[in-house]
Amino acid sequence: MKTKLLLVTLLVPTLSFAQSLERKFEALIRTEKNKPVVTEVVLKDLTSAEAFEGAHFKIVRGKSDEAIKFTDDKALTFRAATTYYHLTKAREYFVNHMKSKHAAAIPQMTIRIDHTNQFSELGHFAHDNMEPQYNNALTVPAGKGLESRGVKPWGTEIWFRPSKKIHVRDLRVNNTANREMQVLMKQFRNQTHMQSLQRFLLTTVLALTEDGVSLDPKESIIRTVGASVIIEVGYQAFDPITKAFSRKWYWLDTAVVPEIIYHEYAHVALSDHLVLSHSTAIIEGMADFFAGQIANSPELAKHIKKYNTYSGKDAERKQDYMIQFEMTEYANTDFVFGMLWSLKEILGEEKGEAFMFDLRKKLTTNSTIRGQLIEGILQTCEESCASPFVDKLRILKALNLRGI
Ligand SMILES: [Zn+2]
Repeated sequence: MKTKLLLVTLLVPTLSFAQSLERKFEALIRTEKNKPVVTEVVLKDLTSAEAFEGAHFKIVRGKSDEAIKFTDDKALTFRAATTYYHLTKAREYFVNHMKSKHAAAIPQMTIRIDHTNQFSELGHFAHDNMEPQYNNALTVPAGKGLESRGVKPWGTEIWFRPSKKIHVRDLRVNNTANREMQVLMKQFRNQTHMQSLQRFLLTTVLALTEDGVSLDPKESIIRTVGASVIIEVGYQAFDPITKAFSRKWYWLDTAVVPEIIYHEYAHVALSDHLVLSHSTAIIEGMADFFAGQIANSPELAKHIKKYNTYSGKDAERKQDYMIQFEMTEYANTDFVFGMLWSLKEILGEEKGEAFMFDLRKKLTTNSTIRGQLIEGILQTCEESCASPFVDKLRILKALNLRGI
């Protein structure tokens, strides 16, 4: 009896401490037409009354362990609120809609915004002098830490880099009349989505200088976020301070781009099978697929359908399968994404979504497109298609058309 009483008295304060709070904030969301707007949103499951810390996410700045305060400067709180809001949406999608036990069991994650350090598997953060990162985001796997160096263990984290503006005059475009972002986008599309948008732009950028150190644009990108077709809708998404769009500047403020936030969270939710050791076309394609599902936007779907190089109607050149797609450098092509998206259309929206979620169980980080991905698609169909024989034939026929 005594122990019971003791337990009760111990539990009471814990429960009241862990109550979840709600609070309204301005954040960036998409309209039905997929246009970015700033509006008031409700942040749920907060456990702190003064900072962006909740049951599932803690939003910090850079290397800090302290959650960003509600009273911090507005540009920072706007980005923290937007990130928190869309992460909550992505989590609810996986936990409630896809019934992911893995996502439901993930303890509070630390989310870093304005974080420029590269990732180090041993030290968590690479040294500050190691090429700071911009216009980018990534999900890092949990680590054991390094006690002898005072590096504490960490859980799975998502890092959003600060944006850095690049003027189009600094882009290496021969024709001066072509120095408009819109024109660059078209050029990019015409070159097919063979590489990520960022890589496309960065390889056209003259050597940037950072603190007097000349950067090789190719090396300054370790990992990029998502396939081009997803990134394209998020490029220069919004400037929360000037509230203006620009046709003259390129930047990617990843912490306020809903699709990028969904893409990164999808990596976390899919990591029960697709371990986050490195980027592959399959891992990126799966994350993009679910980013598209969470966004649930007919406008975005139209854009994906139109321009993806796997099956896009308006893609200048449809891209057949190439062995190179299996390599890390091509992880951000939209080939796999386009493939999964068009398979969903064969299977039907609802069925296709459940299909892709089951598909992850047949895959690992080392799977190849031509090997385990195709095998996994056919096996999943065997288990869940309405008429497996006919459906498998339809799938195979569609894949054959793209050189697989
Ligand atoms: Zn990714």
